[in-house]
Amino acid sequence: MTRQNISVLCPDAVVIGGGPAGLMAAERLLAAGVSVALYDAMPSVGRKFLLAGVGGMNITKAEASDRFNSHYYEAQNALGPMLQAFDANALRDWVHQLGIDTFVGSSGKVFPTEMKAAPLLRAWLQRLKQAGLQLFTRHQWLGWQGANLVFDSPKGRTSVKPKVVVLALGGASWSRLGSTGVWQPWLAEQQVGIEPLKPANCGFTRPWTEQFTAAGCPIKAVAGWVKDTDSRSPIRGELLLTQDGIEGSLVYRFSAQLREQLLRSGKATLYLDLLPDRSLQDVLAVFKQAPKGKTLSRLLSSKLGFSAAKRQLLFECVEKSQWAKPLLMAAHIKRLAVELEAMRPMDEAISCAGGVRFSALDKNLMLTAMPGVFCAGEMLDWEAPTGGYLLTACFATGRWAGDGAARYIEH
Ligand SMILES: Cc1cc2nc3c(=O)[nH]c(=O)nc-3n(C[C@H](O)[C@H](O)[C@H](O)COP(=O)(O)OP(=O)(O)OC[C@H]3O[C@@H](n4cnc5c(N)ncnc54)[C@H](O)[C@@H]3O)c2cc1C
Repeated sequence: MTRQNISVLCPDAVVIGGGPAGLMAAERLLAAGVSVALYDAMPSVGRKFLLAGVGGMNITKAEASDRFNSHYYEAQNALGPMLQAFDANALRDWVHQLGIDTFVGSSGKVFPTEMKAAPLLRAWLQRLKQAGLQLFTRHQWLGWQGANLVFDSPKGRTSVKPKVVVLALGGASWSRLGSTGVWQPWLAEQQVGIEPLKPANCGFTRPWTEQFTAAGCPIKAVAGWVKDTDSRSPIRGELLLTQDGIEGSLVYRFSAQLREQLLRSGKATLYLDLLPDRSLQDVLAVFKQAPKGKTLSRLLSSKLGFSAAKRQLLFECVEKSQWAKPLLMAAHIKRLAVELEAMRPMDEAISCAGGVRFSALDKNLMLTAMPGVFCAGEMLDWEAPTGGYLLTACFATGRWAGDGAARYIEH
């Protein structure tokens, strides 16, 4: 098919990116009576959102706002007003209004009752279309040509010049779902300050020995910390051993600190307490009372409840010369240093750190270098651990940018 330039009716507002942030921005613009067209490069919207629903979509976290906000590290002040305007309770109410029930899990994590994202996305898209949303999928935004937004579509090149634009293009992980980070140089060319995208909530690599056979096995009921100063308040959780390293929720919890250690010194260490419910003395007593001839492996599994994978992790991280020394082994069990060599690639990460700096945005999330252009979602420079914090900030910033864009049109 020959590519041709085609033109479409121009709405007042264009949202680019149909993830949770972009859809939420569109919803607020429509609610303010603004005509909205939403463009997405993929054949359907919300693909990463749907993926988030595959293992049970953790949409937010029920906890006090101070504690909640602290999970956004340095960005907590910038995000504060947005999270206050659309907090975990407001987000739950919003989900309920779509006819989807939620429940709070044991650790405060909030899930849709069916655990999936698809019913929620279906109901939301239906409501948005009823409100007048014009949806253009398979429209890849190519940047600006003068003041026009240019898109590539199966029918050719399209350009539009709306009054306002909300960019909600996501980060750069799982690029096959649509977010590729392609926007970074285009915004940089417009003098927009951008912190380079980096993997967040990612796995890390470390070489295992040839004897290692525990890839794919979980390590449950452990506690972790990164800096020695944090050893008094380790965080409990579980991780997964992979072919070439570790991943999983406890690893993601520390991924920002581990990433910074790696970038600073080329190496990083995650410390694990493999038996957080037993004291060092307790573990030592088990070793001392062991009947003669009982191997360490058998002792670990029969008296200390170690799984085969937990045993392998211990042996992989401790020099063989120390295996026969009960005092040292007890200390390693309570403070195992898991040395890490590198981050897994960005494309495998759950989310990204870096993005459009808050200093490049006004208080409405509009780019100061580009009046009328707003940004929202994961493409902003914040990061957070998994646990519902990612989606909450995407929704809250999308809502904030949508409201800001609607007010900008009114002026
Ligand atoms: C495996 C996995 C599990 C997750 N689980 C959870 C979870 O349980 N809880 C949680 O809080 N978070 C979770 N997340 C994170 C969460 O899904 C993301 O943070 C969130 O989807 C980001 O929303 P967004 O709207 O900013 O961007 P995205 O959802 O990435 O959407 C961006 C959209 O922009 C479009 N786009 C990009 N570039 C262009 C372009 N040039 N032209 C046109 N369109 C473009 C893309 O096609 C995409 O549809 C998970 C992520 C992954 C990968």
